[in-house]
Amino acid sequence: MIDWKKIDTVLLDMDGTLLDLNFDNHFWKEFVPLKFAERQGLSIDAAKLQLQPRFKSMEGKLEWYCLDYWSDVLELDIVGLKAEISGLIAVLPHVTEFLEKAHQSPKKVYLVTNAHRGSLGLKMEKTCLQAFFDDIISSHDLGIPKEHADFWRLLQQRVPFEKQTTLLIDDSLAVLNSARQFGITHLISVSRPDTQLPKKEITAYPAIEDFRELMAGL
Ligand SMILES: [Mg+2]
Repeated sequence: MIDWKKIDTVLLDMDGTLLDLNFDNHFWKEFVPLKFAERQGLSIDAAKLQLQPRFKSMEGKLEWYCLDYWSDVLELDIVGLKAEISGLIAVLPHVTEFLEKAHQSPKKVYLVTNAHRGSLGLKMEKTCLQAFFDDIISSHDLGIPKEHADFWRLLQQRVPFEKQTTLLIDDSLAVLNSARQFGITHLISVSRPDTQLPKKEITAYPAIEDFRELMAGL
C-alpha cells in the first residue's frame, strides 16, 4: 500500500486514526445530551433533538473542536465531562507497534489534530503516546482547521515537510481532500475508526482497517 522508501515525514491524525472514535461518538451522542438534559430539565430524547442540529451546523469549523466554545454555549464543563468518562479513551489495535517502529525509523512523525488542547492533553495523559512524536500540532494553534487547504501551508511553516515525501493518515475524507488540494502526495484513510461500528466502505483513498497493513517495509 505504501513504499516507505519514498516517505520522510508521517502526519498522523488522532481521533479515529490512532484512538478509537468510540470515545468521541459516545461522548457527543450520549453523554453530553444526558448532562445537557439534566441541566436544562429536559428528557434525553428532547436534548438529543435540540443538540443534533447545533452540532451539525458546526461541522468542519474550528469551533466544533473547541471545548471552550461548547462549554460556553451549552453551559457545561466539557473538559470536566470528558475526564469523567476518560476510561473509554482507547488506542486502536496495532497502533502502538506501528508508532514504535515509525519512531525508531529516521522518519519524522507528527501528530496533527483538530482536537482542542484540553482534549489532546487528556488523551495523551491516558494513552502515553506523546513520546512517539517529534511534535504535536493542534489546528487551534494555527487558527484554522485541517479541512482547509490553507491549514497545510501554515503547518509547513511550523514543521518542515516536502509534499512529495509526506504521508498523511486520517479517517476524515474532508481532511484528506484538503491535503490533496494542497498537494500532499501520499494519503491513506481508515475504514474502522470506531471499533463499535461496522467497517466503512472507502473508495476515494486507499484505506487501512488497522495499522498492521502498513508495517511491511517500515
Ligand atoms: Mg479523525
